[in-house]
Amino acid sequence: MILFQLKCDHDHEFEGWFKDSATYEAQSLGGELSCPLCGSVHVGKALMAPRLRTGRQKEQAEQTQKQAALAMATQTALAEIRAHVEKNCEHVGDKFAEEARKIHYGEADARGIYGQATPDEAVELIDEGIDVHALPWLEDHKKN
Ligand SMILES: [Zn+2]
Repeated sequence: MILFQLKCDHDHEFEGWFKDSATYEAQSLGGELSCPLCGSVHVGKALMAPRLRTGRQKEQAEQTQKQAALAMATQTALAEIRAHVEKNCEHVGDKFAEEARKIHYGEADARGIYGQATPDEAVELIDEGIDVHALPWLEDHKKN
């Protein structure tokens, strides 16, 4: 997102957030921008020089906010995956590699399982064509 200081032909200044510079240009050319005060569609960029510092700070704040929102969304998604796994799969703890192999070779009932595997075990499983997925588990996962 990018913030532009805009100005209509009646010298009303206002701010507009745009996805990027090209979006601003497109909306400007398409006459989609109008002054919130008088409704004039004759809108252009106002000189931003005196506000450059503030603008950059706002941009940084926006950036930080976006990163926080993204981190939050990732955590939520992981929590959902985890809840789904815990509900539908059997926890086998550190016997994961052993159980996954048994299921793969038909020595145990086919079912979803989850647990811990070392990186070496995971590589071996994948080499054997066993379908495993590594998930970054959240901190408060119950210890087994
Ligand atoms: Zn205006």
